[in-house]
Amino acid sequence: MTAQVIDGKAFAAKVRAQVAEHVDRLKADHGITPGLAVVLVGEDPASEVYVAHKHKATVEVGMASFEHKLPTDTPEEELFALIDQLNADPAVHGILCQFPVPDHLDERRTVARIDPAKDVDGLSVTNAGLLATGGKALVSCTPLGCLMLLRDQLDTLSGLNAVVIGRSNLFGKPMAQLLLQQNCTVTIAHSRSQDLPGICRGADILVAAVGRAEMVKGDWVKPGAAVIDVGITRTEHPEKPGKTRLVGDVDFDSASEVAGAITPVPGGVGPMTIACLLANTLTACCRAHGLEEPEGLTA
Ligand code: NAP
Repeated sequence: MTAQVIDGKAFAAKVRAQVAEHVDRLKADHGITPGLAVVLVGEDPASEVYVAHKHKATVEVGMASFEHKLPTDTPEEELFALIDQLNADPAVHGILCQFPVPDHLDERRTVARIDPAKDVDGLSVTNAGLLATGGKALVSCTPLGCLMLLRDQLDTLSGLNAVVIGRSNLFGKPMAQLLLQQNCTVTIAHSRSQDLPGICRGADILVAAVGRAEMVKGDWVKPGAAVIDVGITRTEHPEKPGKTRLVGDVDFDSASEVAGAITPVPGGVGPMTIACLLANTLTACCRAHGLEEPEGLTA
């Protein structure tokens, strides 16, 4: 079998177009412009690139983008004063603090300071709790993106066996909750799991979020399974000395011989993350104004 390769870039473009259309309607019908505030503390070059991408994507869908760059030595009180100000600002519907923050700041405390209704990264205890208990959560962007890809790919997820490798708060746990919500039978595997290949072979849906290059081999994959590769690792290029390339957690060549559908790295899950950040900002805006939520863009 040769798997269908899931084009995350094309799907993310569709999601962004849907968001843009909805934003246009909000402006025309209600005079509301959704706004996303991104806070960056310090000068981490990778974070600066991510923040620039987020700004560009936000503006492209017609939302307001508020960027706040703070120096590395910003005391916690100052960061929290800014977050309080953004929490109170009616023009801001989503707030994201770019991680990692410098060592003297605490990520958990920072997330906890953000109003859960504006926590578009879905990282707060409130949103994690709402997701786990079937409430109206804002869901962490990458798992939400994976769910959208799976819903698009499969007629139904109900009753399928799903295996998520990885149990991080950022990805593995919310992904498992989303699959459970879709009536999958969910197994969460991690570094202490025994017989990982055997566990994976039972999966109709296999989601790998580990960060270990090409760990999941073709003979771990159930024939016809949907394989979602979240991992990103930069490795040496096998054919171009001195060059690097990005690879996922799944050995694409062998897995794509067995799977029914598979996401590539790059170009699979990655592009969905920013698309879902925009979708979450739109959702937060609609909720803040008591308006109907955008269809297909929430969990
Ligand atoms: P993380 O916090 O480091 O979690 C990794 C998970 O993998 C942990 O639960 C760990 O288990 C598990 N693990 C480690 N070695 C394992 C092994 N040999 N067998 C089975 N499980 C193992 O990472 P994360 O934030 O969830 O991210 C995971 C990967 O996804 C990374 O490559 C990251 O770059 C990527 N990612 C991509 C996007 C995107 O595309 N936008 C977004 C988020 C993450 P323990 O809990 O037992 O330690």
